[in-house]
Amino acid sequence: MPESKFEVVKDLGDGLHFVEGKRCTIEAEKTFPVFEPRSGKIVAQCPISDAAEVDRVVNIAAKAQPEWGNTHVFERAKVLREVAKLIRENLDALARWEVLCNGKPIYEARVDLESSAETFDFYAGAASTVLSTGLQYELPGGPQQRFAYSRREPYGVVGAIGAWNYPFQTAVWKVAPALAAGNAVVYKPSPFAPLSPVVIGELLTAAGLPSGVFNVIQGEAETGQALCKHEKVKKVSFTGSVATGKAIQRACAENNIKPVTLELGGKSPLIIFEDSDIGSAVSAAMLANFLNQGQVCTNATRVFVQKSIVPQFTEALLKEADAKLKVGDPLKEETRVGASINEQHLKKVLGFVESAKQEGATVLRGGKRVHPEGVEEGFYFEPAIISDLSDSMKIVRDEIFGAVLLILPFENEDEVVKRANDTGYGLATGVFSRNLARGHRIASKLQAGTVFINTYNDTDVHVPFGGFKESGHGRENCVEALHAFTQIKAVYVNVEDKLDHCFH
Ligand code: NAD
Repeated sequence: MPESKFEVVKDLGDGLHFVEGKRCTIEAEKTFPVFEPRSGKIVAQCPISDAAEVDRVVNIAAKAQPEWGNTHVFERAKVLREVAKLIRENLDALARWEVLCNGKPIYEARVDLESSAETFDFYAGAASTVLSTGLQYELPGGPQQRFAYSRREPYGVVGAIGAWNYPFQTAVWKVAPALAAGNAVVYKPSPFAPLSPVVIGELLTAAGLPSGVFNVIQGEAETGQALCKHEKVKKVSFTGSVATGKAIQRACAENNIKPVTLELGGKSPLIIFEDSDIGSAVSAAMLANFLNQGQVCTNATRVFVQKSIVPQFTEALLKEADAKLKVGDPLKEETRVGASINEQHLKKVLGFVESAKQEGATVLRGGKRVHPEGVEEGFYFEPAIISDLSDSMKIVRDEIFGAVLLILPFENEDEVVKRANDTGYGLATGVFSRNLARGHRIASKLQAGTVFINTYNDTDVHVPFGGFKESGHGRENCVEALHAFTQIKAVYVNVEDKLDHCFH
C-alpha cells in the first residue's frame, strides 16, 4: 500500500475531471458555469466531456478493472477503510468544500461526511461476507455427493450519475459498494455540484486505489446519455428525477441490456395522529421538511394532521420554526438553513408557493426570497408553512424539492392511508402515534420503500434505501447495494467419480 498522502483541495484551478488517479482538466468545445450557491458567484467554467471523451475514460476504466476485480477482497477493503480514516482526519476542511459546493449549513455537511466514512467502513467489512455462499443439495431419488455455490462477480465498468443535493454522500453510496465488489467506476456528477466526486477520487488515490479504477467525467444530459449507452459500461446507478430516470432506463437498453438502479424523486406523507406527543410531532415535521433547504428526496411535504389537533400542532410548529430556522451564511455555525442550489431552482420553489396562493391556500410563514447579510447575492429562501390546501392542488401533487411544509387535516385512519398513497411516488412515509400497533399496521399499508414510525429522515448504512412505484427500483445501502453491483453466478459441483444419466 502506498503511503497515504491526501491534501484537501485548495481551489478549482487543477480541474474538475478525475482520470487515471488524478484531478485534471480536458480540452472541450463546450463548458458549463459552476455556481457557488452561498454567494451566487460563478467560480469556474467546467469543460464538458463529449461522447469521444466518455469513450476514452470508459476504456481507461475497462483496462484497469480486471486487476482490481482480481485483487483479494481484503486488499480492496483496506483501501476503503483508509478512505474512511482520511475523511475523518480531514472532516472540517472537507465539510467546508461541501458547503461551498452545495450551500448546505456546515453542521449538516459534517453529518454527511461522517456517514460517508461509515459507508466506506461498512462495505470494507461487508464485501467478504456477501460475495460468495455455498449450498448442499440433493437430487430426486436419494442423497448424492453434490453441492453448489454461488459467486458474486463484479460487472466490470459501472456508470454512475448523481444529483446535486447530497453530492458527496450520493457518490459514496454508489462508489463504496461498487469498488468493494471489484468494479471500476465512471462517475458523472450533477453540473450544479461537480466537485465532491473529484475530492472522493483524490481520497481514493491517497488511500491506494490503482489508477483508472475510479474516474469522474463532467457534463449534462448528453454526457450522461453517452455513458449510459456505452457498450463497455455494464451497469448504471442513477440518482435524480423521475423524468431523467426514464430517459436513463431507455438509454441503458440501447446498445446492451444494462441493469439499472434508479433512486428517484418523492412526494412523501407524514401522518400525525391526535394521540402523538405534539412536541415530538413538530420535531418530525421539521426534520421531514427543513434539512438541506428542503432539498431532500424523502422529504414529507404532505403533513397530514388529525383534525382535533390541527390548531395546537400549527401553533407549536410556527413557534418552533420562527425560533429555530435561522437562514444565513451556511459557513456560519449558527446557521440552520443555507442556500438553495441555484437561482433557477429557487424560482421553481417560489413558483410553487405562488401557485398555492392562487389556488386559495394560506401561507402562514415564509415562502419568500431573502438576502442574508454578507451573502446577499446567494440563493436564499425563507422556509414556508402553508395551510388551507386541497389534495388536488399542484403544490400537494408535485415534488417541490424545497423547504415548503403543507398542513393537510384528516379525520380517520382509512381515509388518511388512502390519501397518503394517492401519488405516483413511493419513496418514504412517516407515522406519528403513541399507539405502536397502529404504527405497524399503517406501515404495512403504506406504499413506499421506507416508513418512519415516530421519527423522520433517519438513514443508516445497514438499512436498505430506495423507492416503490415511480420513485425507482433497486436499493442502496446495506448488502443490497453489493448485490446491485454484482452479478450472481451459480456453480454446480459433482464430487462423485461417476455420473449417471436418465436415458434408460
Ligand atoms: P435530474 O434528474 O435533473 O439530474 C440528475 C442527474 O442526471 C444529473 O447529473 C444530470 O446532469 C443528469 N441528467 C439529466 N438529464 C439526463 C439525461 N437525459 N440522460 C442522462 N443523464 C441526465 O435531477 P436533479 O435535479 O439533479 O436532482 C433532483 C431530483 O433527484 C429530485 O427529483 C430528487 O427527489 C431526486 N433525488 C432522489 C434521491 C434518491 O435517493 N431517491 C436522492 C437525491 C435526489
